[in-house]
Amino acid sequence: MSFQNPVFIPGPTNIPEVIRKACDMPTIDHRSSVFGEIFAPVRENLKKVLKTTSGEIIIFPASGTGAWEASISNTLSPGDKVLAARNGMFSHRWIDMCQRHGLEVQIVETPWGEGIPANKYQEILAADKGHEIKAVLATHNETATGVRSDIGAVRAAMDAAKHPALLMVDGVSSVASMDFRMDDWGVDLAVTGSQKGFMMPAGLAICGVSQKALSHMDAAKLPRTFFDFRDMLNAYAAGGYPYTPAVGLLNGLNTSVNMLLDEGLEAVFDRHHRIAEGVRRAIAAWGLKPCAANPSLYSDTVTAVVVPEGFNGSAVATHAAEAYGMAFGVGLGEVATKVFRIGHLGSLTEAMMLSGLSVAEMSMVDLGIPVKLGSGVAAAQEYYRVGSAAMQAAA
Ligand code: PLP
Repeated sequence: MSFQNPVFIPGPTNIPEVIRKACDMPTIDHRSSVFGEIFAPVRENLKKVLKTTSGEIIIFPASGTGAWEASISNTLSPGDKVLAARNGMFSHRWIDMCQRHGLEVQIVETPWGEGIPANKYQEILAADKGHEIKAVLATHNETATGVRSDIGAVRAAMDAAKHPALLMVDGVSSVASMDFRMDDWGVDLAVTGSQKGFMMPAGLAICGVSQKALSHMDAAKLPRTFFDFRDMLNAYAAGGYPYTPAVGLLNGLNTSVNMLLDEGLEAVFDRHHRIAEGVRRAIAAWGLKPCAANPSLYSDTVTAVVVPEGFNGSAVATHAAEAYGMAFGVGLGEVATKVFRIGHLGSLTEAMMLSGLSVAEMSMVDLGIPVKLGSGVAAAQEYYRVGSAAMQAAA
C-alpha cells in the first residue's frame, strides 16, 4: 500500500513529522505524575485556542461525533427541545443524533450552501415564551458545503430574544484553522476533534464547556457513562483520568497546540485565509463557483467546487486519487454529485496548495470539464506570489 501526501480532503489533514513522532511514544504509567506533565498543559493551551478563560476543557478518546454526544448527553434530558438549522451533512448528522437520543428537534430547513439564518433563530426563540428550547445548535463550518456561519450573529439573536438556552457549536472543521471565540460568542459547548485544524490523527474528542453548561450536568437525565463530564472533571481534579487515556495522542496534541501558539493563532488564521483565497481565485479562473452562496459565507478551511451540469463532482475526486494519487473530498448528501471538495486546513502552505490546484485542474480536464489547464494555478500564483498587489495590500 502506498501513502500519498499531501492530502486535500477536509480532514483528516496532513500530519507534520514532529507531531507524528510525538504521538509515537513509549508506554508510560498514566496513573503517575508523568501523565499530568503531558495532560495539564494541553488543557491549559486548548483554552487559548478556543479563546476561553472561564470554560473547562474535557477530552475523550473519541472522534468529533463523540464530542457531539458528550455535549448533549451531559446537559439535556429526554424530551427536551433543541433548535437547529439543517444546511449540510454535518448539521444533519447532529440533528439525527439528537433525535436518536429522544430530543425534540425544531429544524430550520436551510438550503445547502447557505449559512445559519440567525434572524429565523431569533424569531423562533422570541416566540418561545416558556423557554422550552433548552439548546441552540450551530455548525460553525459546514464541511459538506464549505459554508462558515456567523456564530456571533447566533449569539446576538439569542440575546435579542432574551433566551436562556445553551449555545452548542460544532467547530470540528474550523477550530485551530479559523477564528473561534468561545467566550466572546457566549458558546456553552464548543465541540471539535483532533484530526483537522490540530493536524493530528483522529481519536480525540475535545469539548470546551462553559460554567453555565457545567451547571446543567446534575439535572441532565440523558444516560452517559463513557462520556460523563463529572467523571472526567473529578479525575482531572485528582491529576488523573477516569479510564485509560490515549496518551500518545495527547502527547501529539501537546505538540500541536504548542506549534499553533508558536506560529500565533492570528497568523495561523491569516495563513488559512490566504490559502483559501488563492483557491477561490483558481475556481473563478476555471469559470466555476463555490457551493457557498455568497462571499460572506466562504470557509477558509474547505471549498466545495460546483461542477458544470452534466458532470459528476465526486468523479473528479475519484479520478484524482486513481490517476494522480491525490486525495480530494467527494460530495456528500444533497450535493453528492454536484461538487468535489478541496480541503485547505491544518498543516498546509501556499506552495502545497498549488500542487493540489494543478491536480484538480488536470483531473477536470481529463474528465472533459471545460477548464483551461494552468488557468487556476496561474490565478492562485498571481495571488500568492510575494510581490503581488493583493499580497502587498494585505501586508
Ligand atoms: N462536524 C463536522 C463539521 C465535521 O466536518 C465532522 C467530520 O468531518 C464531524 C462533525 C464528525 O466528526 P468525526 O468524523 O471526527 O466524528
